[in-house]
This record gives sequence, structure tokens and C-alpha cells, in this order.
Amino acid sequence: MRGEKKLLRASLSFLLLFLLPYFLVAQTSPEDFLGFKAGTDRKLADYNQIKAYFEKLDQESAKLKIFNIGHSTKKKTMIMAVITSEQNMAKLDTYREIVKKLRDPRTLALEDAKKLAKQGKVIVLITCNIHATEIASSQMAMEFAYKLVTGKAPFDAEKVLNDVIVLIVPTTNPDGQKMVTDWYRTYVGTKYEGGRMPWLYQHYSGHDNNRDWFMFNLPESRAVTKVLYHDWLPQIHIDEHQMGSTGARLFVPPFMDPPVPNIHPLLWRSVALCGMNMAYDLEKQGFKGVVHGRSYTGWWIGACDDTSWLHNVVGLLSEMASVKVATPIYIEPTEIPQSYYEKRMQFPNPWPGGWWRLRDLVDYELVLSFSLVKTAYLHKEDFLFNFYQMYKNSIEKIEKGDPFAFVIPGKQGDYPTALRMLKILMFGGVEIHQAKEDFIADGKAYPAGSFVVKASQPYKPYAVALLEKQKYPDIRQYPGGPPIPPYDNAGWTLPLQMGVSCDRIEHPFKVKLEKLEKVAYPSPEAPKESSKYILLDSRINVSYGAAFFLLKEKAEIYRTREKVKGEGFKVKAGSFLIKNTPQVQKAFPAFIEKWHLPVYELDDITDISKSPLNNKRIGLYQSWRSNMDEGWTRYVFDDLGVPYITLHNKDFKGTKKKKINLKAKYDVIVFADEDPDIIKLGKPSPTSRWARYFTPLPPEYEGGIGKEGIEALKVFVEQGGILVTLNNACRLIFKEFKVPARNAIEGVERSKFFCPTSILRINVDNKTPIGYGMPREAGAVFARSLAMDTWVPSGEWDRKVVASFPEDDLLLSGWLLGEKTIARKAAVVDTKYKKGRIILIGIRCQHRAQSHGTYKFLLNALLYPQID
Ligand SMILES: [Zn+2]
Repeated sequence: MRGEKKLLRASLSFLLLFLLPYFLVAQTSPEDFLGFKAGTDRKLADYNQIKAYFEKLDQESAKLKIFNIGHSTKKKTMIMAVITSEQNMAKLDTYREIVKKLRDPRTLALEDAKKLAKQGKVIVLITCNIHATEIASSQMAMEFAYKLVTGKAPFDAEKVLNDVIVLIVPTTNPDGQKMVTDWYRTYVGTKYEGGRMPWLYQHYSGHDNNRDWFMFNLPESRAVTKVLYHDWLPQIHIDEHQMGSTGARLFVPPFMDPPVPNIHPLLWRSVALCGMNMAYDLEKQGFKGVVHGRSYTGWWIGACDDTSWLHNVVGLLSEMASVKVATPIYIEPTEIPQSYYEKRMQFPNPWPGGWWRLRDLVDYELVLSFSLVKTAYLHKEDFLFNFYQMYKNSIEKIEKGDPFAFVIPGKQGDYPTALRMLKILMFGGVEIHQAKEDFIADGKAYPAGSFVVKASQPYKPYAVALLEKQKYPDIRQYPGGPPIPPYDNAGWTLPLQMGVSCDRIEHPFKVKLEKLEKVAYPSPEAPKESSKYILLDSRINVSYGAAFFLLKEKAEIYRTREKVKGEGFKVKAGSFLIKNTPQVQKAFPAFIEKWHLPVYELDDITDISKSPLNNKRIGLYQSWRSNMDEGWTRYVFDDLGVPYITLHNKDFKGTKKKKINLKAKYDVIVFADEDPDIIKLGKPSPTSRWARYFTPLPPEYEGGIGKEGIEALKVFVEQGGILVTLNNACRLIFKEFKVPARNAIEGVERSKFFCPTSILRINVDNKTPIGYGMPREAGAVFARSLAMDTWVPSGEWDRKVVASFPEDDLLLSGWLLGEKTIARKAAVVDTKYKKGRIILIGIRCQHRAQSHGTYKFLLNALLYPQID
């Protein structure tokens, strides 16, 4: 017995010794893993390394678990680490369930909410590095996680993690993070070290990836939105950024005026509480140069952190002063602007200047991130109960000026786009109902099938902000003085941008409603084999997608010159008339499945006035100056299946022996919104205010299309090519061509005319090819846009004004001063020269792939029928 016991003991201790490492694995530090400390000068961990490090920590610590939250545009897996105590980790679903209950006070009594706030754990989301060059937070994330799980945080992590569930996304933009590190590594040690890349750091959007948080065009925005409003429901969210180099070292909230309407005051107070605690913790540890209440406003810009406010989530932003990616910079004290040199109440401890390094950014960000976790812990019950309280307010409290509901009528010019809008709204968490019967609201009759968005719902601030018209406050430098511009857009109203009719309803009404679980698309029937022709309505955006596909299949297509009436249908001028062949038959089920577009059938088309439509070879110009509008144009093209070739500067140049012949290769060439000097020369003019921010690129990316490119474009138009210029690219045409149009507001002062990104009313001639399918009156996004004068042409020129600003009442949403300056000016002009055309689109017709309501100006330019 004795001997047996001894043996047992011996083998047990052997087993323990053997298993011990599995229980007590030492956690690898980022420094040991990477071979350098995060934030070391000229050293960067790329996304693969960051992901691998988090995976290692997941294996080594029971306090950290990785979740895949989606994938990037280039199909990289996006990860999020959950960091909390071991006990909480085992009950994550329970805690997610608790916050889900707290979000809906319709099914939770106040007393129960109090209990749940006690039982629950506060959830804090930290998102990093959405702007890929603002790279410090992606490096910081590793050290932050390591310090939390190993108890090296500046607080009792054991205790704190028992009450807080931390979610950290080390980069919201993995594609860009990898691009930036690759580019940095390629040029480190050369004169291009730390300089910008020639392309966008998000495939389609570049920096605009932080303007996508209501449209959800990008898979990255969708992945994080799912975390925020569907799967994890954090109460607190911070998005960590970087800003310019010479001002404050760090911005933390509170934000400055103006606030976006409908935000619960408790939310702004909570934002201030978290932000001020960060500033306090930094000050306590001797960090200088922290500012609050400046530069960043409480107005919504469609960004990641501020979309949280509209969902009753405490949304915060941090902005560190940048270095050159990972290269340190030296700032002379004299280079610091006065407002960041002097002490102020919002800025009590100025930074004196000197060396500034990536590690400084990592240090500040570590302190502020830990501070936020600590604040969440200290006010845990409050944050959870406030969460409930704010939703209760959204549902129950009707404040002065609140609407009762919004109605999206069942009958729409472009029904598939209306459904797309509903789908986007639902993804953002908006509850939508469908009417099961006809009804009357505010004196107007609506058919059964219309959609109702009630103001009373948990995400009321968000639903209202998207559906109503914005009125940006008239803020001036001094009474009667020049306007203080908003940070970005002043107006964004989704139905106006998307060309969907939507009515604001003031008074309560009754109707039988059914809550939508998902957007139900209709399934129109495919055309019968026996029909000779089929017809696609020009008012519907996806009809253009179908037309592009069928042109590729060599289908015989016409565009109608007038509206066409048939049995049970009525379509507008410019509709697509397609000969029904076996190939066309074959294509249609897939279209209907993808786009749900209605198809009409016709047998006799002899009486229909029409023009043939040929296949078009489309080129889209891409400069080496990472132009976001070019990216969004590509997005729209890819979304609708528009075939195109990307053109670079070299594509506009011939050889010594032979001039370039653009018409031999392309029928349509598109220039997205861009400074004409960048297009022509690859750099801004020396007098431009952007000139000082211009940094050189490696020689292969220098220059523009040059004089030679301009000459080639002239020949292209003469020979029958269609040149399309969007917004500021039109100014290239005014400079280089003798076109009978000019920008009437070139150089006009802000005090006379001012319109920061807003939606303006335009009148459209929808009987002319570029206006086909548009309503007579539409909303157009005006963002550093144009208002054109045209005149009676001479020689071989002609012009047709397609869209213009009306005489008065121009503003639909946002802010506009001096409307008379642009009243009765042209917004879209179709000019003709010899055999070709130049289409001048002076507004942002595909702005951020959001303004679906004006896509048709561009699409019509690509599908211009054979007129003569
Ligand atoms: Zn940023």
C-alpha cells in the first residue's frame, strides 16, 4: 500500500510538473514577439504580425479571446480581442443578453433594469487605425492587451476586468495597415521615408472610410457596426486617430459646437466624463499638450465614433499629433501656432516643441485607453443603467419639434433603390414597419405596402438624423462676419441623397403595421420567351447595370426618346429597349435575383421613337495622388457591374514615333472630382493653399497627363469620344478647352457664397439624354461644387443645360449662404464639339457612393445613345 501510495504521489507530481506550463504559460510580450518595442523609431508591426500576436495571447491567456468579426475589402480576416476576467469569459453570452435587454425598455421594467445594471458588465469597445497612416494605435493595441492580461495596467486589473468587458479591434482597416507598413518599409532610409502612398489606403474610399458609417458601403464598416449595434452592444466606444503635427499633442472630448440634434444630454455628459478623466490621468502622469473642446464638433459627419452617439452609445474620439508614419519629427517652438503655444482653459499645459516620436503616441494612447477602462469600471452601474435610461427616453419622450414618424410610400420611381435604403437603415439598427392596409397620415393617402419608421424606437436619434432634413446652425466668426465652416458635411439626409421619396409625419395616425424582420424584395417574373422586346425603366438605377451586362453579351439595345406606355406599365424617356434573344433570356433570372428589377414586355416597337445604344469602352482616370472620389467612382462602377479600365498618366502619352490615339481604345473617359493642376501636372499650382502640404513621390509616380494628355483628349473628343468630368475636374475643361461654359463661382468669397457639403435642389430636363430617368426636381450633393454659366456657342460647339439650380428655395438639407449667387446657374451641362461630347457634371453625383439619386447623370454619360 505504502509503496503504491508513494508511486502514485511520485507520478502525480511528475504529471503536475509536466502539465504546469499548460496552466501557467507566461504571456509573451509584444517586444519579445516582434523583436522590438511597439513604437520604436522606424519600426512597424504589420497586420499579419499584429494578428499573429493576438492569436498567441489568445493561446497564452484565459483572459483574452479572439473573435473574427468579418473581412476587409481585400478579404483579410478582421479580428477583435475580448479581454475580461476568466469568470466573465465563461459567461459572455449572459452579459451580451443583459445589455440586449437593457436596450429595449419596451420589454423591461425600471426595477428590473436596475437589477440588470447591477448584475451586468460594462462593455467598452476600442477601435484603432481606421485611417491606415494613423498607425500608432495599431501598435499600441498589442501592448495594451498584454498589460491588461498580465496585470501590468495602472490599476488592479483583476478587479477591473471583473466588471468590464473590453473589446479591442487593433485595426479597422487591415488592408490599409498592411499597405502603409509595406510602403514605409520599402522607402525607409530614402528621401521618400514617411511620405504618402500614391494610392488610397482603403481600396475604394481612402480617408473617407470614416464617412461610411450610415451607408455601410464597405465591409469594414459593416463588420464593426455588427459588433456595435447587433452582436455586442457596448455602452462606451472610442475610435483612436491622429491629426496634424504642430498643434496640440492630443485631442480628447468633450467636442465643440454645434451638437447634432436629438442627442440625450446624459450622453454628452458621459462623453465629457470619460474625456476629462483621460485628460486628468494624462496630466497626473506629466503628459503635456492635451486639449479638449476644440477642432472636433458634436455635429455628425458619418464617422465611426459619432455614429455611436446617435445610438445612445458614449462615443469618443482621440486624435494624437502625428509623426511621419514611424519616422520621428522635430518641431521648432516657433512652428507651434499661438493657440497651442499659450495656456487656455481647454489647454492648460502646452507642449514646448522638440522631438516627437511614434513611441510618444503609443504612450499617450496607452494612458488614455487604460483611463477609459478605469472610468467604465468606476461608473459601471451608471453606464449600464444610463444605457437603459437613454433608450427609454428615445421611446417615450416626445420633445418639441419631434416628428411622429416617417413614411416611405410604397410607390417609388426607383423601387429597388428605395428597398436598398431600407436595408441600409435596418443594418444601422432602425426598426421599420410595413403597412398592411391603405392609410392617411397628415392628410395624405398612402397605399398598403408603404413603409413606416416610427420616431419612437430605441435608435430614434439615428433614425431621425438620417431621415429628416438637417439645418446647420448659422455660426459666424462674429455677428455678420464670415461663416465658420463645419468639420465636414452640413447635411446628409438619406432619402434626398438616394432619390427616395419620404414624408415626415407630424401627427399620430393609426394603421395595421407589421414589423420587418428583413427587407422583402419582390420577385418580378422573367420575360416570356415569346416576347419580342423587353423594356427596362430608366428611372431605376439597376436597369443601367442590366444594360451594361447585356451590351457585353452583344444584345441589341435602344434607348427610348420618349416615355412609353404599355399594358400595366409606363416608363420614362431613356428606358432600355432590348431585343429578346436566348442570351437575354438566359441573363434575366440572375438579374432579377440580384437586383429585383421589373421587366416589361413588348411585341411591336415600330411606333417607339428610339436611338441605338452601342457597347462602350470606358476608361477611368486615376492620378497618383490617392483621389477618394476616383475610388468612390470605382465603387459605383463595381457595384453596378460597369466595365472599365483604370487609366494612369502614361496612358495619355504616346511614343517618340507615334502619338497616342485614345479613341482607338476608349469611347468614354471619366475624370473624377480632382484639382485640374493635379490632373495635368501631378501637383498643385504654387499659389494653391494646398501647395505647402505637397510631398514628392518616387519619380515613377510624379507628373500628370501633361500637355500631351490634354492634346490627346482634344483629339479624342473631336473624333467622337465622350469626355466626362465630375465636379472640380470640370475646371480642367474650362482651362484647356474653348467650351461655352464657365464656373460662375470661381474665386467668389465665402462672405458672398458659402455651401459646405449640403443637399441642394436642382431642376432637371429629363428629356435630354444626360437627364434620362431623373425626376424633374432632385436633390444634389454640393461639396466644393460648381455653378456654371453657359452662353450661345460659336463654331463647332454646342451645349445643353441638363440640370440647373432654381430661382429660390435652393437648400434642401445642410447650410447655404448667398443662394442668389448660384440661382439659375447650371449644375450639369452636356456640351458637343465636332463628333464628340464633354459632359460637365458640376455637382457630386456619386458622392461617397451615397448619392444614388444623381448616379444617373454619370450613368447616362456612359450609356449615351447614338443620336445622329
Ligand atoms: Zn483619422
